[in-house]
Parts: sequence; C-alpha cells; structure tokens
Amino acid sequence: MLEVRNWRVAYGQHMALQGVNLEVASGEVVVILGTNGAGKSTLLKSVAGLVPAQPGSEAKFDNTAITNLTPQAIVEAGIALVPEGRGIFGELTVRENLQLGAFTKRARASETQNLEQVLSLFPKLKERMKQVVQTMSGGEQQMVAIGRALMSNPRLLLLDEPSLGLSPLMTGELFKALEQVRQQSLSILLVEQNAKRSLALADRGYLLENGQIVGQGTSAELSNDPAVQQAYLGGAGRYAASAAS
Ligand code: ATP
Repeated sequence: MLEVRNWRVAYGQHMALQGVNLEVASGEVVVILGTNGAGKSTLLKSVAGLVPAQPGSEAKFDNTAITNLTPQAIVEAGIALVPEGRGIFGELTVRENLQLGAFTKRARASETQNLEQVLSLFPKLKERMKQVVQTMSGGEQQMVAIGRALMSNPRLLLLDEPSLGLSPLMTGELFKALEQVRQQSLSILLVEQNAKRSLALADRGYLLENGQIVGQGTSAELSNDPAVQQAYLGGAGRYAASAAS
C-alpha cells in the first residue's frame, strides 16, 4: 500500500531524514519508535506533503507516485495525517471540525456514513457536537482530531504521537478506539512515545535514530529485543506485546 524508498528530508543544511525505507501493507498497523529529534514527525509530515522530500526520494501509494504532491492531493489519494498537537480548530465546534474533514472529493459522497462511523467510534463526541473544541479536554480534542481525519475517508491514517499529554485513562480509551479503527481495515502508520501500548497495537515497527532506520521487526520481536526494552520500554525485562493493558 505505502512504499517509501530512499526518503531524504533536509531543513537547510540539517539532514533530518537520510535514506529511509519503509512499507505499510494494506490493513497493517506499523509503529515508528525513536527518541526526541529522531525525525519521526518529519517523516509523517513529508509523506503527507507538508515538508518537501529531497530529489531521489520516492513514495508510492497503491503503486502510484505521491512524492511531493500537494497535501490536498495526498488526502485525495486516501492518506490522512493527524499531526502532533492535533491541528484542529479550537474556536470551531466539534461538528464544524468534523465537517472540515470531509472537504475532499473522495469524502463528500459518504459524509453522512463517515460521520456515523466516527460517532460510533467516539460516542462521547455525539453529545458534544455543538461544543467549542478549545473547551474540551486533551483526550476529547484528540478524538476530534482523529475523527476529522477519518471524515476524509482515508485508507491510511498517519498518527503523530496521539497519546501525548493524555492521562493514562484517556490513553487507554484512545488505544481502544485505534484497535476499532484497525478492525475497519484501515492501515495506520503511528509515531508514539508510548512504546508499550503502540507495540501492543501494531503488527510491525521500525526504529528511527538520527534520521535513519536502525532496526525493524514484528511487534513481538521488537518487544523482546533487549535494546528496545532498554531504550523504549523502561528496561523492564521480557515483555509480551499481547499482555499490555
Ligand atoms: P519529537 O519526538 O521530539 O517530536 P521527532 O522524532 O518527531 O522528535 P522531528 O520533529 O521530525 O523529530 O525533528 C527532526 C530533526 O529536524 C530535529 O533535529 C529537529 O530539530 C529538526 N527540525 C524539525 N523541524 C524543523 C524545522 N522546521 N526547521 C529546522 N529544523 C527542524
């Protein structure tokens, strides 16, 4: 579904990504783990067309080149980004934010159906449709952000640190919702600081350091890798991905 080859992104002289190769298959959930500044957000933003990739970089979605298309064209192709910090409009209501997500041609015909799906995924939003988003809790705002992305009728969701700033309770709810999203056969490429939960959700993962992929494997392989445990799982010893609560 998504294939990224020799992906390079620079901010001036600074190479933020250097020769990244990764894939997401249809229906797969893939996590990218990396420390602060590794280039995780840059990767998602550049795939979504918000930051340009360097010449020679190649991204294909369903075998069609999407490298450096406009952000709107990439949404039309079926890829929706939920950026770090959520990117929602705080002064607008929940309903207005969700409606804005349905501006694409690919989403217009199925707007009502998509809205029903979003509200069944996040029932809390149903009673809050008229609420101004900036008065909502962080977790509720994250639901609006993911809901808005889903309103564009995507086949691949790019999620940048969705649990950032959420309480453990809200994080639990969020990951339950993401589990439901995957059951709707959507693919997810996820960047997360919460390695434990994201490895429990994901099928596979990549390790990103200083703009380069330095490791990859199934979630079970990564969860049992001592280096991953040390760096991302608090060095807590052997951990079974299926046992995460
Ligand atoms: P974090 O987990 O802290 O958000 P990250 O892995 O998402 O980190 P990025 O935000 O992608 O990392 O940043 C990768 C590198 O690129 C960092 O060194 C960062 O300082 C740099 N960088 C990011 N955005 C810009 C920008 N707009 N201009 C210049 N440098 C940038």
